[in-house]
Amino acid sequence: MSDEIFDIKAPSTTTTGAPAVSDRNSLSIGADGPVVLHDVHFLEQMAHFNREKVIERQPHAKGSGAFGVFETTEDVSRYTKAALFQPGAKTEMLARFSTVAGEQGSPDTWRDVRGFSLKFYTSEGNYDLVGNNTPVFFVRDPMKFPHFIRSQKRLPDSGLRDNHMQWDFWTLNPESAHQVTYLMGVRGLPKTWRNMNGYGSHTYMWVNAQGERFWVKYHFHTRQGMQFFSNAEASEKAGSDADYHRRDLFEAIARGDFPVWEMSVQVMPYDEAKTYRFNPFDLTKTWSHKDYPLIRVGTMTLNRNPENFFAQIEQAAFSPGNTVPGIGLSPDKMLLGRAFAYNDAQRNRIGANFHQIPVNQAKVPVNTYMMDGPMTYHHTGAAPVYVPNSGGRPWSDQEGPVDNGWEADGAMVRSAYTLHPQDDDFGQPGTLVREVLGDAERAALVETVAGSLLGGVREPVLGRALAYWKSIDPETGARIEDKVRTGSAPKPAEGQGQA
Ligand code: NDP
Repeated sequence: MSDEIFDIKAPSTTTTGAPAVSDRNSLSIGADGPVVLHDVHFLEQMAHFNREKVIERQPHAKGSGAFGVFETTEDVSRYTKAALFQPGAKTEMLARFSTVAGEQGSPDTWRDVRGFSLKFYTSEGNYDLVGNNTPVFFVRDPMKFPHFIRSQKRLPDSGLRDNHMQWDFWTLNPESAHQVTYLMGVRGLPKTWRNMNGYGSHTYMWVNAQGERFWVKYHFHTRQGMQFFSNAEASEKAGSDADYHRRDLFEAIARGDFPVWEMSVQVMPYDEAKTYRFNPFDLTKTWSHKDYPLIRVGTMTLNRNPENFFAQIEQAAFSPGNTVPGIGLSPDKMLLGRAFAYNDAQRNRIGANFHQIPVNQAKVPVNTYMMDGPMTYHHTGAAPVYVPNSGGRPWSDQEGPVDNGWEADGAMVRSAYTLHPQDDDFGQPGTLVREVLGDAERAALVETVAGSLLGGVREPVLGRALAYWKSIDPETGARIEDKVRTGSAPKPAEGQGQA
């Protein structure tokens, strides 16, 4: 995707295309004399160098990605009319994987949730699915999100990461228990990005050609198999190769070993949302596979590395608000908050016209009335810039109910979700600990949690954390308490007991 008028074999030029006189020697008065102010090429280089970074993403700063293709191999047209999910459709796409809390340059193998962001360049506009490698999240209300991220980052005085602060936030927000259990288990340390699953995490809406609505959850199962690092292996890699995951993906694709994920959905008929045993819009809950089995949709294959990391990965802008016909959002409050926050973050990070950057451009004609602003590249010439107009430029004018909407009424409140019969913060993580994890995984979980608590967590947070684990599972909580009280768990290396 490099610019066609860029000739790497020709001598270097200024940004305006004139020959650059020298890239090695600045202009000075005599060989030992002062550099002069009119060495424009030198000054321009220094000025541009000062500006060659953009603000790093607030969460998910460290990551990388690759291009690929999504192929719909099954027929799910009874659930959605979205063009990309029609049988046989092949859609170009981009994936970006990342850690959450670490800054640019932080080790890829610190214990953390991993971002799993996908952009599909569909025939109906770009569709972004911005998920994680876990099916749940730490909080269920977007008001808490900035507080959550701050608690996982760095202390205001020392600039250090801090287990105490993390556990303080988690234990004061018990809805975090499911995600924390997931994170402290083996899946908190994926061996590579190729060896982890991805999840849309939120509940989304699908709408079919007849206008029927369904609630869906997306699952991407790695065909490479799930593989994990132990705490010791991850610590070693963090020291010896901080970019281990980035390198692994790039090198695998470069040698033609293209990673593949199988995409499936769980589908819930629209009306069942009211009566399901868990509130299906609560991001801290999964839908049991037994209640809503996985339905295969297709495969995602990553087969092309970026040609330029900055242009195509750093400037890639994802938002869960970018949907296409046949797909909608849901009453999940976290999703609704993200639908605003992501594009706003991109405006702050790379500018109001981030959608005009090639990696973010739709592959279909765009006719938006949003115009001008810094770095405008696409424009509509002399066409009318307002609606309605009599100059012949079309505009949209839908009225009435939207096909991907839902009903809402009631007084305005600030409140948690309506509780469904089996909703509580500790039930699903308890099932995970007791029924999904094997003995070895449970033992590793106990050791990781105890090690993390021994890594500087003080009272009253420590007592709260032990009570939190006993609420998830009394036996596991007791084992963690025993290790903490006797100091018999290895204190993790920096990053490994954290999120
Ligand atoms: P199931 O027994 O049908 O599913 C359990 C699922 O847990 C597996 O399919 C697998 O999902 C996932 N899993 C396996 N090992 C681990 C692990 N070490 N750490 C985290 N997840 C693991 O039961 P239910 O669907 O009724 O779910 C029971 C519990 O399993 C839930 O409370 C939740 O904690 C967890 N879970 C459920 C998922 C869901 O969407 N229903 C997804 C992931 C976890 P996968 O195939 O996605 O790897």
